[in-house]
Amino acid sequence: MKAARLRAYGTPLRIDEVPTPAPGPGQVVVAVQGAGFCHSDIHVIDGEIPILPRLPMILGHENAGVVAAVGSGVRTVGVGQSVAVFGGWGCGQCNLCVTGHEQLCETPAWAGLSANDGGYAEYLLVPHERYLVPLTNLKPVEAAPLTDAALTPYRAVQKALTFLQPDHFALLIGFGGLGQYGLKLLHLLSGCGVIVVDVGHCTRGDGPAYADSSRDRTARPHQRGVPTTQGWRDRRTCSDRSGGVTRERASEEMYGCA
Ligand SMILES: [Zn+2]
Ligand SMILES: [Zn+2]
Repeated sequence: MKAARLRAYGTPLRIDEVPTPAPGPGQVVVAVQGAGFCHSDIHVIDGEIPILPRLPMILGHENAGVVAAVGSGVRTVGVGQSVAVFGGWGCGQCNLCVTGHEQLCETPAWAGLSANDGGYAEYLLVPHERYLVPLTNLKPVEAAPLTDAALTPYRAVQKALTFLQPDHFALLIGFGGLGQYGLKLLHLLSGCGVIVVDVGHCTRGDGPAYADSSRDRTARPHQRGVPTTQGWRDRRTCSDRSGGVTRERASEEMYGCA
């Protein structure tokens, strides 16, 4: 199969011909149809996070596709089924793993960030069927980034939910790949207002604009023109809603529930 591999830190990925994986007992091979390019991968490729146990290596921990082969004993997925692949693999046996925090396992085995190759390839070997989430409506190419870029803020929002009342504001710091999913998730799950700040300017013409906190750190959010989950409000409405909620207070509330 073809795979995009990192051969040495600081060099571009190269398309190589490598053996197609075959599933062992309990394992699944997924034909990759979507593989998100995470910002972490840029740091790994550049050598800023040189965590790979070997090179060459197939990166890619945001994957989805169609089950191509299953090993003996696999029961919950079958060949031809569309699946998203949870990529935060661990040992499966420690306290963190068995209590649902496998992505924090102290012996991480993440796809594409450990000894296990990732999904920048035609096929991905998945060590256990428990990492597979069946897809019904979403296409794999749409689902792939949900497994990391959306799952990360989803966890943060879930942890904060009990603190987020409808008359509260959540402060969302950073509006890159994860932040945009965070805004959507806050809108869908919390019902509270959201203040978004970022040190950069918005470069996406059809998205909500950033508040530029690097320019005037003393200004109240509404004075800098802050988007809410309902999209742009006129500044007067935004001012009314934000009232006395300062960036500092909102920040305390967020960090208080982190
Ligand atoms: Zn990532
Ligand atoms: Zn573990």
